[in-house]
Amino acid sequence: MKSAPALRAIPSVEKLRQALGDPGLPRAVVVAAVRRHVAALRAAKPIPEFGAIVERLRAALADLKLSRLQPVINGTGILVHTNLGRAPLGPAAVATLAAVAADYNNLELDLATGARGRRAAYLEDALALLCGADAATVVNNCAAALVLVLRHFTSGQRKEVILSRGELIQIGGGFRVPEILEASGARLREVGTTNQTALNDYARAIRRETAMILKVHRSNFFMGGFVASPDPKAIAGLAKKHRLPFVEDLGSGAVVDTAQLAGLEHEPTPAEALRRGVDLVCFSGDKLLGGPQAGIIAGKARHVAALQREPFFRALRCDKLVLSALQTTVELYLEASGPRPASSGKPEVGAPLEAGTPVLAMLRVSEDELRLRAGKIVAGLARLPLQAGVGAGRSQLGGGTLPRSGIPSVTVELAPRHLTVEELARRLRRGTPPVVGFISNGRFKLDLRTVFPRQDEAVLAAVRQALAP
Ligand SMILES: *Cc1c(COP(=O)(O)O)cnc(C)c1O
Repeated sequence: MKSAPALRAIPSVEKLRQALGDPGLPRAVVVAAVRRHVAALRAAKPIPEFGAIVERLRAALADLKLSRLQPVINGTGILVHTNLGRAPLGPAAVATLAAVAADYNNLELDLATGARGRRAAYLEDALALLCGADAATVVNNCAAALVLVLRHFTSGQRKEVILSRGELIQIGGGFRVPEILEASGARLREVGTTNQTALNDYARAIRRETAMILKVHRSNFFMGGFVASPDPKAIAGLAKKHRLPFVEDLGSGAVVDTAQLAGLEHEPTPAEALRRGVDLVCFSGDKLLGGPQAGIIAGKARHVAALQREPFFRALRCDKLVLSALQTTVELYLEASGPRPASSGKPEVGAPLEAGTPVLAMLRVSEDELRLRAGKIVAGLARLPLQAGVGAGRSQLGGGTLPRSGIPSVTVELAPRHLTVEELARRLRRGTPPVVGFISNGRFKLDLRTVFPRQDEAVLAAVRQALAP
């Protein structure tokens, strides 16, 4: 217990709030933070002086303000960075999103007949076309897509989902395939070993309790050496023979041929997976596709329709903002495709598609172009108390996509004279806008592949600001 005089030394909430001035946050947020701080002071001994309390509060509020969702300059070189919001949207998708957001819209109204319409019907058809599928639908994200599919096929007596031990993967934080299965009420039936799974392993596991066969794309790691897994076509044949649904979680969902992009490896497309006999595929909207967060499910029409009839589907549906941005993204791909997108040519990555999907544009930008920009930035930093240079980097797709594919890139490298590189990184992270890079070989580096050219000036200003006395 503190004595009454000691507690009286704790300043009032109102007095502290006034001393803080305007921290640039809603008053209720400031008051709540001050209250929390004052409550904590009751346990402090000795109770700090008024000035010290105000300073600590000011720092806490600055951190709080920094935590508001805001645009960030990505100098990490990781194109689909989950911590940085994955794929940025292109101008066309942003324009549709803004227009749909600000006005009423025909989300569930059929303008042709005046009757109630089906949400996202046009988008679903466009997605099916892009995936070379009979039908497609959209939910909140790929994890939701997988949960919906698992719940649907494992209802009733049949609960077992057959999955290779080589595909019991974890994606980022919080997405572990075995846990998703469990949360969906499915029972995992592991087959094979970490590195070797044969068709016979699948065949032997099939019994009365079997609900479906699942395949999960090893999107964020690779296995080499003594590794084998059966051709998906053979698994599809087995599934068909036993009348079991065969579903593949593709994760990233590249719909373009990634082998043609910046020397990347080939990433299986939804159309390819479906051609190999998979009944349904699911993939993310905001990874390599370059759209908003969404989980796309494509495949057999009767399965897609059944999923949409699930009461749980309603809990996972996307809102008008996501649907509008995704609609424009998908249209950009379809415009870049031949007359029969999924079956003949895949969408051609060229200027129009790049203009609309920044991730693809960033993948394709040349090292020469990056070097030119880096040179300009470095020149703009002359006379500042730091050593600045142009270096070589290696960008990555990230977001659990093509882990082996590093893309040669160009970095701006900084070694400040009067600060540690850690302090420079901290100051840039706390700037407006925040700039996020990485430290390597004692230097702070910015990989320019993930920095939009329109942000180069802001990068310059941020470094100047960070070094200001
Ligand atoms: C990224 C990924 C997921 C999760 O996708 P979200 O859209 O983030 O829910 C699931 N499976 C695989 C294989 C992935 O790569």
